[in-house]
Amino acid sequence: NTEITAELIAAGKVAHELDREHVFHSWQAQGPFDPMTIIKTEGSWVWDGEGNKLLDLSSQLVNTNIGHQHPKVVAAIQAQAATICTIAPQHVNDARSEAAKLIAELTPGNLNKIFFTNGGADANEHAIRMARVHTGKHKVLAAYRSYHGGTHLAVNVTGDPRRVASDNATDGVVHFFPAYLYRSYFNSTTEAEETQRALRHLEDTIILEGPSSIGALVLESIPGSAGIYVPPTGYMEGVRELTSKYGIILIADEVMAGFGRAGQWFAVNHWNITPDLLTFAKGVNSGYVPLGGVAISEEIFETFLQRPYPGGLTYSGHPLACAAAVATIKAMQEERMVENSARLGAEIIGPALTELKAKHPSVGDVRGTGCFWAVELVTNQETREPMAPYGGSSPAMAAVTGALKKAGMLPFVNFNRIHVVPPLNISDADLRTGLAMLDEALSVADGFVTD
Ligand code: PLP
Repeated sequence: NTEITAELIAAGKVAHELDREHVFHSWQAQGPFDPMTIIKTEGSWVWDGEGNKLLDLSSQLVNTNIGHQHPKVVAAIQAQAATICTIAPQHVNDARSEAAKLIAELTPGNLNKIFFTNGGADANEHAIRMARVHTGKHKVLAAYRSYHGGTHLAVNVTGDPRRVASDNATDGVVHFFPAYLYRSYFNSTTEAEETQRALRHLEDTIILEGPSSIGALVLESIPGSAGIYVPPTGYMEGVRELTSKYGIILIADEVMAGFGRAGQWFAVNHWNITPDLLTFAKGVNSGYVPLGGVAISEEIFETFLQRPYPGGLTYSGHPLACAAAVATIKAMQEERMVENSARLGAEIIGPALTELKAKHPSVGDVRGTGCFWAVELVTNQETREPMAPYGGSSPAMAAVTGALKKAGMLPFVNFNRIHVVPPLNISDADLRTGLAMLDEALSVADGFVTD
């Protein structure tokens, strides 16, 4: 329990200066970027460089599902560090074995084998490679308005402007339009229409690209940073049917939606479907030590019984990361965090956001499940004109972000959306405080509404 002292604040200022001198930050123009210093974290709260206490409704890129500095996980990392800090992937390590067992038990169906990576992007890279080797087919289908990671192939399957900006080599990737009712690509006005039309579009894409050339379809079970647009009823079941029908490996990217975030251990549980490969990271150990992985079906595993898998990572199944995963999963089970995530979504966040939508003309749409929600801001509810373009920013969104911080929140703002993604074990009182801060900031957004 670090005290906020003048020394701690002074150390934060030194760190900020050194950062500006020497740290190269992700996704930023380095010149104007002024990162926030964090000098302390605890539970659902962080303290900025001035010592101000902020409610962390971002969960640090939707990552700290168990909140900051969970004592059981901190203790497990310390205990692991005191025995074995690192062991190469070809050796057995008890933390890795136990983490793999727990994850295999939690993932649906016959996803019983776990390949560990360092994070989400490399999990997707490896899942696609497994699918390509298993099927002998190269093409990969992926959705527009998606995010799958910042490395070469992961950013290529990503369907947002970050792909266009950072890479232009397609490497066999073909994009299709997802089911997204609020901004339907198919002019749908009902969920049923959207499901039917989006699936027809997907089947047409498969047929026209040639099923004999498509190895995998990678899809976020609930697209996260692209907008937390929960698929309409029947869509994911339909995707599972189409991929099975055409011999395409279905890779469910659960890097953000998994590990209780969406009110179930995995978002695919909402539809009772089992993908052939499921990728995870973030919530597996709340990011206390970097870890990701691929859960692999028995069928795909069999391909590699006699044939070597052509890939690996020095830190695959790192003991510190796996010890953190074991402790995280056990804490989530003991403290019933997944059930709590579902309850918070159904009883507090959902009803509160519905009220905010009725009250604020700047709110175009609210949607989500569990502790995974988006508030989509518009300048006009009729035309649904976004308050910032997809992939961009605007003075209006900058003002809203400023208002959220001023109200006392560390928010997750993406383009024209505010994401409400608290830790799954946030207290009801803290969550209500955060929603009141949101209400306050939305009045600023209302000022940018046009007729
Ligand atoms: N997939 C999804 C759905 C994500 O949200 C992210 C990160 O936000 C990634 C993959 C990439 O994960 P990482 O940043 O750990 O490489």
